[in-house]
Amino acid sequence: MTYMENISPLKAVMDIWKVKRGKPEDILSRQQSRLPDLISFARSNSQYYAQKYSLLPERISSLQQIPPVTKSELMANFNDWVTDPEVSIESVKEFVSDMSLVGQLYLERYMVSTTSGSTGVPGIFIQDKSSDTIMKTLMAIRGTTKLIWSDILKVAAKGGRNAAVCSTAGHFTAFSTAERLRLKNPSNGKIRAFSIQSPLSTLVKELNEYQPALIGGYATAMEILAEEQKAGRLNIQPVAILLGGEKLYPNVRAKLESFFQARVLDLYGGTEATAMTFECEEGQFHVNTDWIIFEPVDEFYQPVPPGKQSHSVLITNLANRIQPLIRYELTDRVTMFSEPCKCGRPFPVVQVEGRTDDILKFSTPNCQIIHILPMALKTIVEEIPGVRRFQLIQTAPDKLTVRLEVDEGNPRDQIWENVREALLDYFATQGLTNLSIEKSEELPQRHLKSGKYQHVLIDYLK
Ligand SMILES: [Zn+2]
Repeated sequence: MTYMENISPLKAVMDIWKVKRGKPEDILSRQQSRLPDLISFARSNSQYYAQKYSLLPERISSLQQIPPVTKSELMANFNDWVTDPEVSIESVKEFVSDMSLVGQLYLERYMVSTTSGSTGVPGIFIQDKSSDTIMKTLMAIRGTTKLIWSDILKVAAKGGRNAAVCSTAGHFTAFSTAERLRLKNPSNGKIRAFSIQSPLSTLVKELNEYQPALIGGYATAMEILAEEQKAGRLNIQPVAILLGGEKLYPNVRAKLESFFQARVLDLYGGTEATAMTFECEEGQFHVNTDWIIFEPVDEFYQPVPPGKQSHSVLITNLANRIQPLIRYELTDRVTMFSEPCKCGRPFPVVQVEGRTDDILKFSTPNCQIIHILPMALKTIVEEIPGVRRFQLIQTAPDKLTVRLEVDEGNPRDQIWENVREALLDYFATQGLTNLSIEKSEELPQRHLKSGKYQHVLIDYLK
């Protein structure tokens, strides 16, 4: 049996609107009715959960009774995890390896996005129609909280064009969402993806031509574009800048606000749950706990009290049934707060340590400095078949060292050769023909002190 019951956009809007200014009890009652439904659906339709929960009582009274799950575990059991027998790892891998299908629906009904996430194990995440409707509605209603009416009028007056500055090296959420919207109405030009893999001068030229009213992207990409704007090479006047996928530091936010004179909206979410939070007027992240159960935990999966930083966080996505995520571990360190926010919304406030990859700096043979965005590099490597985990480390002004772990049963030397070639090709498009790329004998690893996993980092004394 497949999950076919679709929540209508109108119903989603009504429900999400109703709790916007409601009480915490309104949220809790929604969680309490949605969670048992999801659990019983997963038990009856996912062999993986049926097996995993086989010793649990019929009626589960508390979340803590449920064992957590991780991305590597779920990915290793993909075909048993999904709740639609037509979905398989083989066919979905084939789908995401075809770049002409970005923005199209898999099996004509599912949205698919790939991710490396922060643990280094690649993931493939599928959303059903209901989840797509709910996440989009959360974004539209709550994700735009900081915009005021005059902003919306300004966006319209400027032609309403929306630029998604993203990695175009794979089926990543930002790219596939932009493509999906574009394909719905290909001729109106209201949304366009711009590749962070393009040389910066190309990206700047294309954005100058497009003149977006809204621009979205990763913090590191927008920071570099802000520098271009300040230098006068980029000349755009977006009303708002939408960020996500990377930690936004206050100094970068200040730079974006001042160089673009635009409103900056940040979002903490993931491919697993795109609209996990929204930013309010007070600049705080609120968790959309009516659809996402969010549990900060320590290294033994025990709850961490409010005000204390967690080791990771377990999320339960109450909106998506094709690939149930129930107490799924996200490796972000977060701090939840029990005090209500000044804005008065009933959703809890969370602070996120976030991912912190470094922007690399190389110089071309004619001494021009080129900034390399971590997301651009990362997404090139994670698209190479057989790559399990990796780390790209700038170990000298002209040297990149690669730590590589390959999927079992794959020829390591061949995969390494593919990685090396893909990186050399990419650097060549940036004018960097003078770099050496070396393989490390070490496996990818977390930072010894911080415990953080970085995909792209600088490790030498400048
Ligand atoms: Zn608030």
